[in-house]
Amino acid sequence: MNIILFGPPGAGKGTQAQKLVENHNYYQISTGDLLRNEANKKSNIGVEIEKLISKGEFVSDEIVNDLLKQTLSKLNSHDPIIFDGYPRSISQASNLEQILNNFRRKIDFVISLNVSRDIIQKRIMGRVTCEKCNITLNEYFDQERIKKLSCSGKHLVKRKDDNLETILNRYDKYIETTKPVLDFLSKKTTIHEVDGTLKIEEITDKIEHIIKG
Ligand code: AMP
Repeated sequence: MNIILFGPPGAGKGTQAQKLVENHNYYQISTGDLLRNEANKKSNIGVEIEKLISKGEFVSDEIVNDLLKQTLSKLNSHDPIIFDGYPRSISQASNLEQILNNFRRKIDFVISLNVSRDIIQKRIMGRVTCEKCNITLNEYFDQERIKKLSCSGKHLVKRKDDNLETILNRYDKYIETTKPVLDFLSKKTTIHEVDGTLKIEEITDKIEHIIKG
């Protein structure tokens, strides 16, 4: 079973993808994570990727599709996949269809998380990740959990692209280029809309309900 988790930056796609990984052994393909890994290698391509990410611009389809194919080729054909942050444009959606065909796969569900621009801004501005345990929290909303961390929050870092200018650019790009992908996908499969402003556990329950059919 393969799922696309759809929604604007800060909608909680990564958090919900992690839940599916923990609860159902899904394999998470986050193109953002794949690109950040590539950027960390500091190769020529890595430096270009870093520049685009820091401005909130899209990385070219060629690079993203190559990373995607490399990742898919390492998986067993029956491993269930959750796509997080991909496809982000109509061209990526049609590339995905072709790539999945080649791997004899298809998309079974599209789950779209809806969150307003205001909430996204607050969520992203406060987003911090612990470099040691990889947990993502919010410095405004999760004060108590941060105090209870075994490292007392000493290893919390912010993503470089989580600043106001870049966030607003990423959101505008979502509205202009990514949201229309839902129309394209709705011709191929059912889109399940979920209120992304609910509590994390409530969203997880709704997603569980959808995938259990
Ligand atoms: P994310 O981790 O999904 O928020 O992505 C972080 C950044 O990586 C985005 O703002 C883009 O610069 C880049 N990126 C991630 N996924 C894609 C994609 N599918 N196509 C192009 N650029 C992407």
